Amino acid sequence: MALLEVTDLRREYVLGDVTVHALRGVTLSIEQGSFVSIVGSSGSGKSTLMNILGLLDRPSSGRYVLNGEDVSTIDPDRRARLRNQKIGFVFQNFNLLPRTSAVEQVELPMLYDPRSPAAAARHERALKLLQAVGLGERAHHTPSQLSGGQQQRVAIARSLVNEPELLLADEPTGNLDSRTSVDVMELLQTLNREQGITIILITHEPDIAAYSQRVVTVKDGRVLSDTPVTDQRDAKAEAARLRAEPEDDEPAPPAPAKEAVAP
Ligand code: ADP
Ligand code: MG
Repeated sequence: MALLEVTDLRREYVLGDVTVHALRGVTLSIEQGSFVSIVGSSGSGKSTLMNILGLLDRPSSGRYVLNGEDVSTIDPDRRARLRNQKIGFVFQNFNLLPRTSAVEQVELPMLYDPRSPAAAARHERALKLLQAVGLGERAHHTPSQLSGGQQQRVAIARSLVNEPELLLADEPTGNLDSRTSVDVMELLQTLNREQGITIILITHEPDIAAYSQRVVTVKDGRVLSDTPVTDQRDAKAEAARLRAEPEDDEPAPPAPAKEAVAP
């Protein structure tokens, strides 16, 4: 079943007397439980598309059906409610609040959800999610006390707290080194495989798109190609291999003592 369907989606930005055509008619259907990446060079319209799919923005024209409901024209309140309850977001720059502990960051989206449990239960749920992303020990650390990879894990835990059906990740590994990127992709693949969360991953890196099942390439606001990934990368296996290898920055074994050179 399609979780979402967009038809002839267009988005123009009007800047004075210049109109930027960011999306020029995108038609796309994304199945429930799938892991799709959207790739394309900078300026091709990826973030504009994600903002519309994530109900953060509205198209200038075209239709968007989410879970069978036409959301193209719903009012802002309903849009905000659907967004909060159905969609989780992960961004390149993590979007965490400074001077706020990991556990408080994760609790935050629950405050805006009318279905939200009482404070003690919110706290417990946030701690559980942090444990699930491997940060149980760091729950009371603030972003400045965490590495980039750890900050992105906090952001992923936060994106999951209202049990979304859809996770939208815009360049989630864009600020991470390649080793940490594998860890983050392992987490996303696990969420998709084990919890059936639909994931839309935006990236300009083909290497990262290879962890998904399907690659949609956009160019100049249009879908250029839409192809299944035949040889999907497995982040779990890669991460296990990397963990078995020594760290790059591990000190090299001591050099043999230099022999005194005769003058
Ligand atoms: P990508 O994420 O693929 O880099 P974007 O969706 O951010 O691409 O941008 C697509 C096009 O729309 C670009 O030409 C960009 O300059 C323009 N654009 C994006 N957001 C805005 C905005 N808020 N106002 C004006 N132009 C915008
Ligand atoms: Mg972008």
